Amino acid sequence: MDARLTDEQDLLRRSIREFAETELRPYVMEWDEAQHFPRELLPKFAELGLMGIQFPEEYGGAAMSAVDYCICIEELARVDPSVCLSVAAHNGLGAAHIFMFGSEAQKQAYLTPLAAGEKLAAWGLTEASSGSDAGAMRTTASRDGDGWVINGSKQFITHGKYGDIIVVMAVTNKERGSRGISAFIVERGTPGFRAGKKEDKLGMRASETSEVIFENCRVPAEQMVGAEGQGFINALQVLDAGRIGIAALSVGLAQGAYEAARRYAFERRQFGQPIGTFQSIRAKLVDNATRIEAARLLTYRAAAMKDAGQRMSLEAAMAKLYSSEIAVRAAEDGVQIHGGYGFVKDYPAEKYFRDVKLTTIGEGTSEIQRLVIARQLLDSEK
Ligand SMILES: Cc1cc2nc3c(=O)[nH]c(=O)nc-3n(C[C@H](O)[C@H](O)[C@H](O)COP(=O)(O)OP(=O)(O)OC[C@H]3O[C@@H](n4cnc5c(N)ncnc54)[C@H](O)[C@@H]3O)c2cc1C
Repeated sequence: MDARLTDEQDLLRRSIREFAETELRPYVMEWDEAQHFPRELLPKFAELGLMGIQFPEEYGGAAMSAVDYCICIEELARVDPSVCLSVAAHNGLGAAHIFMFGSEAQKQAYLTPLAAGEKLAAWGLTEASSGSDAGAMRTTASRDGDGWVINGSKQFITHGKYGDIIVVMAVTNKERGSRGISAFIVERGTPGFRAGKKEDKLGMRASETSEVIFENCRVPAEQMVGAEGQGFINALQVLDAGRIGIAALSVGLAQGAYEAARRYAFERRQFGQPIGTFQSIRAKLVDNATRIEAARLLTYRAAAMKDAGQRMSLEAAMAKLYSSEIAVRAAEDGVQIHGGYGFVKDYPAEKYFRDVKLTTIGEGTSEIQRLVIARQLLDSEK
């Protein structure tokens, strides 16, 4: 793998960085306090290709590569991880599921408005009693004439309230376990489909997270995505690629936290000199910079494998595990380097520290990444 970026990729990075600095940076704390998701920015995101980053131009997408996707996600997360989480969930979960497994008619009908920023996508796998063990879901879809009737609820759904469509996984054949789960597209406004409680979160507060509820929600048969019984298997494939996105988000967040700490280290003076001249502070900065670079390379490798059409489940899990864990350390060291000022909202360090914890939880916890890695790395040795 060539680790260097092309001139086009450098340009892409600069343009997304400039956008994030001017359109996101001034409002980061306001949105965080109000738990406001800036839906008003969707047309601007779409103009930059951020609402359909990897989808082909025939569906209005920007047709970027997976490595390009990482660059976009990193640059958004460097400034506002929570807005970035929404962009990553829209692209990497809901829209990606339709792109990867939807019929031509579904792609035409849904991907085009999603990529245009006219619609926002959600993706419903997790339930109150089934998170890591997502295959144990209880939401059902029962055959009813030429349609399906969905009953149940989903927990922690990004854009559960503001999303225009959701791809939801439901049990269609209980006897067949994880091979008895199917996926459906449900549009907002469909009778029997509504948002429940909006979560009041520790971090990622500008990204809306809500419960969604299905009560005798009837959808036509053509709303099934992929083959009957394949919904869970397809969801796992969506997550493989989605994890590259969370890895990139972690790298970008860590970079933002590191840059803020580095800046502060040379502004703040104690004992007559900038704290950035003290060896223990320098060691923290150097170690974080090194870990961030390593995480970036792991993430780009998984993305490059995806671009080459190679299986990258192992590499994506490694990238997600490592990047999220080093991001937690970068954000924690960022607070430490800021001292008391890291504990108050006047500096960005405390927000990175709150936001970062999601990265070791969402789209598979660190413990689950280790299970995925162990299965592929160790079980083949049995
Ligand atoms: C902000 C946010 C946004 C989200 N967005 C979405 C979304 O859009 N769509 C969606 O479907 N879901 C979403 N989720 C849900 C997320 O994917 C789950 O929270 C996550 O998968 C963990 O599930 P859980 O919360 O039920 O934890 P649990 O599965 O109950 O885990 C609790 C603890 O037990 C550990 N654990 C569980 N099983 C094992 C095991 N076998 N071995 C070792 N340890 C184990 C876990 O690692 C964790 O530490 C979101 C969550 C958050 C917080």
